[in-house]
Amino acid sequence: MDTDVIVIGAGPTGLTLAAELRLGGADVIVFERRTERSWESRGIGVTARATEMFHQRGLLDRLENIEITRQGHFGGIPIDFGVLEGSHFGMRGAPQYKIEEMLEGWALELGATLRRGHELVDLRDGPDGVTAVVHGPDGLRECTARYLVGCDGGRSTVRRLAGFAFVGTDATREMYLADVRGCDIEPRPIGELLPDGMVMAAPLEQGYTRIIVCENGTRPDRDRTTTFAEVADAWQRLTGDSIHHGEARWVSSFTDATRQVTEYRRGRVLLAGDAAHIHLPAGGQGMSLGVQDAFNLGWKLAATVRGRAPEDLLDTYHSERHPVGARVLRNTLAQGTLNLAGKPAEPLRAVMAEIIALPVAARHLSGMVSGLDIRYPMAGPDPARPAHPLLGARMPDRELELVDGGRERTARLLHPARGVLITADATGATARAAAGWSDRVDLVRVRAFPPGPEDGGAAAESALIRPDGYIAWVAPDGGDLTDALRRWFGEAAPAPAHREEHAHA
Ligand SMILES: Cc1cc2nc3c(=O)[nH]c(=O)nc-3n(C[C@H](O)[C@H](O)[C@H](O)COP(=O)(O)OP(=O)(O)OC[C@H]3O[C@@H](n4cnc5c(N)ncnc54)[C@H](O)[C@@H]3O)c2cc1C
Repeated sequence: MDTDVIVIGAGPTGLTLAAELRLGGADVIVFERRTERSWESRGIGVTARATEMFHQRGLLDRLENIEITRQGHFGGIPIDFGVLEGSHFGMRGAPQYKIEEMLEGWALELGATLRRGHELVDLRDGPDGVTAVVHGPDGLRECTARYLVGCDGGRSTVRRLAGFAFVGTDATREMYLADVRGCDIEPRPIGELLPDGMVMAAPLEQGYTRIIVCENGTRPDRDRTTTFAEVADAWQRLTGDSIHHGEARWVSSFTDATRQVTEYRRGRVLLAGDAAHIHLPAGGQGMSLGVQDAFNLGWKLAATVRGRAPEDLLDTYHSERHPVGARVLRNTLAQGTLNLAGKPAEPLRAVMAEIIALPVAARHLSGMVSGLDIRYPMAGPDPARPAHPLLGARMPDRELELVDGGRERTARLLHPARGVLITADATGATARAAAGWSDRVDLVRVRAFPPGPEDGGAAAESALIRPDGYIAWVAPDGGDLTDALRRWFGEAAPAPAHREEHAHA
């Protein structure tokens, strides 16, 4: 084999995956058909959960001028995401090309190999490995690996070559987009409904404004290249204002086509990001969804190629991420109906606006669109009783008081992408039970497990956190810790490793 894992595509998903694979100890080669990094800022924001995940790897300091914001919307109806206690909606001010630059630097520092100017043209999936046929500056070459992951975007070649079914609905409307400066445009960050359509205008860096124009009745035509004159004409028809004298650095169009693959893995080929799901960019969730796919897959695939993963660990990538993707597709379709369906949707908008004004509804939708309410299915010890509210949920960033008097934050503990067992069990039984996993799981002894609003009033004593920041076991009443350790981290190391306890405090 030339490498453990081949990743196709160096967009935000492929670059995050490459870095996570390296953190997990796997070798990775990324093939990217572009010869240079893209400067297109398709995504102009990152959701709260993706922001948290960057924070868990210490990456936020690498981004300049970012702004953490509480303001968001659902289908153009404003929501104060501050209803989620101690949280925020997400991050603005870092366009997608900046995020990609940051992720590329991180992946390369960790030792990923990136081959630009190489396009995947064919692949063969066999019982022991995958062969990728790539076309690069020196012509065709073959590269073999144990697994191949298609992170090659919405028109994925990997998806087509490996025969994944991509089901959903075709585009019904087309919208224009332009990043423009040099003209006076009133900000409309969550969009404005007008008699003949919807317009949006969000300030970007360097004096540019992102405008989006959706004119009722515009039929999709993906074979045509959109010009700035067409965007400016449509803007004038809807708003009455001329922006024709503006300078556009990027003009594009997009549709509401909504599709998802039925399985995220076929044999030794997996898909992540837009290659696995496409949808209307309502609420700016696409890049964040792909990045979270990569955080979910990276540690599992690395453990698999290193021979440490339990039998079905890799299959939990599909069982956990497919429902999350399907839910995002649903919420973007719902937002499209509210925001883009014109006059017939007005009564629905009015009713939804009343409902969204209720704190419980605002909290529910905020959790959904921010990705903070993702809870992976994990059974508690007694199926007859509700599991602890933290089980399967994300570990929020909390300050810990260590038994030696020091302080630590949970987000920092996740920087190395290992398992983390936080315990306030003074008897030492929890630490002893986990000793055989000390080469994969860091033990952190605390004076008390810090409470927070996400606990729903249920006190915790210990929690086992996976490398992607999700909680796999909570005590007290969490059942057998060693079962959970085996489930997520494989068998205990043979006896000598028991003595090499890798412990904080
Ligand atoms: C108008 C618009 C606005 C958006 N706004 C937001 C937003 O605010 N927030 C947000 O989160 N998301 C947003 N999105 C969505 C976001 O841009 C995508 O979800 C994101 O780019 C997906 O990342 P990815 O890495 O999966 O795929 P991509 O970014 O598409 O990257 C795929 C990479 O694979 C490469 N590639 C393709 N085929 C091959 C091949 N055969 N061989 C080698 N390389 C190949 C491509 O060159 C590319 O670099 C927006 C999208 C659009 C269209």
